Amino acid sequence: MSAVFCCPVCKDSPLLGNDDTFSCSRCDRQFPIINDRPLLCRIAARSDSSIDDFSPDLLKAAANVPAKTRRFLGRLRGDGETFFDYFFNVMFPQFSKKDPQWRFLAEKVSELEAMVPPTSKIIDIGAGECKYSALFSKADYHATDYVFSSEKHDFSCIDVVSDAQELPFASGYFDFALNLVVLEHVPDPWECVREMSRVLKPGGSAFALIPLVRPEHLAPFDFSRFTRFGIERMFNRAGMRITSLQPSNGSLWTSIYYLYSIALMTPLRRYGRRSWRGVIINRLWYVLLWPLVFYGRLTNRYYDSDFPMYYWVVAKKEG
Ligand SMILES: [Zn+2]
Repeated sequence: MSAVFCCPVCKDSPLLGNDDTFSCSRCDRQFPIINDRPLLCRIAARSDSSIDDFSPDLLKAAANVPAKTRRFLGRLRGDGETFFDYFFNVMFPQFSKKDPQWRFLAEKVSELEAMVPPTSKIIDIGAGECKYSALFSKADYHATDYVFSSEKHDFSCIDVVSDAQELPFASGYFDFALNLVVLEHVPDPWECVREMSRVLKPGGSAFALIPLVRPEHLAPFDFSRFTRFGIERMFNRAGMRITSLQPSNGSLWTSIYYLYSIALMTPLRRYGRRSWRGVIINRLWYVLLWPLVFYGRLTNRYYDSDFPMYYWVVAKKEG
């Protein structure tokens, strides 16, 4: 893997590594390795450590992420859930796999598995918990993330810590790039798409799941939402051609989903997940709204989709 590392600041100048540091042959920046995981971003570089007050947080966050494991497969199956979590998820299944947006995503991800040949090099940008890495177990899959965005997430699958706006990889190295619900968390999404394009080979493909309608989340690292026209411009500017851009669900479902999840979650947030008052109000909303949810799931495909939760984007790098 280290052969592909390049300085995120100078681009394309190779990094020289020893046991605890990578250093740039051109600008002399030193990038630390913490828990076997290189921190290849500008703010982690020792010579830059005073320029940004995020820096100590990043070092602390990286120190809390254990060295790389494969535990995430277990997490997907629900290992590590307490009995209360299990009970809660069974009794209050408001986020169901039957929801049109998740059914859509499952379908797209399985298409992806078929599209990616086993020998390809894949970069998962903003990989988080690497939920989809199991699909690419035969391919040369690399995961990168800026690990301080959330304390709730398990980042132990991450290979290298980086800023999605300054990727530490050689230009034209990867066959495929994944960018799944990441762009809204990057302060400059246009730069992120440009970087994604840069590290792809000419003719390489990017797959992105990009939100149009989502509540604010991962605060304060939530900066944008995207229309299909903005997405098109952003990818075109970066030298990519969009080959497919599909809404995840119909407009009515978006409205029902938010009504349902807001009504259900508000009492639990207000009174706490374990309080009887929160649970009773939650149940009342559940009974009241369930027919609407049932109707929405069933009829999703008959409604127009100019108000979807996400867009699924496939883009090819020109070349
Ligand atoms: Zn450099």
